[in-house]
Amino acid sequence: SEVVLRAENLSRHYEVSRGTFRRPAVLKALSQASFILRRSRTLAVVGESGCGKSTLARLVTMIEPPTSGSLELHDVDVARASREEIRHLHGKVQIVFQDPYGSLNPRQKIGLALEEPLLVNTDMAKEERLRAAYEMLEQVGLRPEHYDRYPHMFSGGQRQRIAIARALMLQPEILVLDEPVSALDVSIQAQILNLLVDLQERYNLAYLFISHDLSVVRHIADEVMVMYLGRPIEFGSRDAVFAQPLHPYTRALLSATPVADPFHKKERIMLRGELPSPMDPPSGCAFHPRCPETVDICRRQAPELRTIGSCQVACHLA
Ligand code: SF4
Ligand code: MG
Repeated sequence: SEVVLRAENLSRHYEVSRGTFRRPAVLKALSQASFILRRSRTLAVVGESGCGKSTLARLVTMIEPPTSGSLELHDVDVARASREEIRHLHGKVQIVFQDPYGSLNPRQKIGLALEEPLLVNTDMAKEERLRAAYEMLEQVGLRPEHYDRYPHMFSGGQRQRIAIARALMLQPEILVLDEPVSALDVSIQAQILNLLVDLQERYNLAYLFISHDLSVVRHIADEVMVMYLGRPIEFGSRDAVFAQPLHPYTRALLSATPVADPFHKKERIMLRGELPSPMDPPSGCAFHPRCPETVDICRRQAPELRTIGSCQVACHLA
């Protein structure tokens, strides 16, 4: 299906001051991420906190620019676009966060929260905005009488429906979903995931689905990108990655998720040590201090992302 966003070698590095007499350090929050988002498709980005997922979300939503690499939306390179072009593109990419409470104004009625993006970004008249808000309430499984209520009068799952509704008001093409169900009970998670699947179909949305939870990703992703310390380390279709993970880190993550079929239960792979600081990543393969399969070369040389079959993986042994 149609490509809506193309990222190539997308990187975001920060200079971090370490006091007057020391040279600033470079925090490589994201390095060399390449991927494509397509209409009606979901790319899931998986990893622990500090792996670069949130930086990636900020770049794709154009909250900040990449330090290198390119990000093309509708053949416009975001890094080289004019203010006017960026303003236009902003509406096409919207984001939903883990905690909808944080993104909703507690003193604003839900209906007005839904109308606000239209008020700020379009010339729509009040009646049109009102109609659009009522329509969107219905699309996300809420009721007309919810229009006049305040955020605290809703459950967590309902609030996430409201956040999704608000993100859809400007008819975006891309929705960045940053841990959208991580704060919800498992039963509610399934409802929200099903809603997202329905909405994707109805509006042909491209999803960038950010999550640390592989059981959620298995449910919703078409493709999976696994990240570690700011770098993509495995990339492939959901079926390929779940059936035959190529990177030892992906295997460890998968071994920690519960499986439905107890006869295929795998031994849980325990990782040594803690996640290192992205300020001070290990030499060679950044995963080597924790990897159960480390060999000599891993300490000296960083593995490149290589294509194996239909997947890509950054590991010397793959
Ligand atoms: Fe493990 Fe070496 Fe592969 Fe890195 S390159 S994941 S340390 S085996
Ligand atoms: Mg995050």
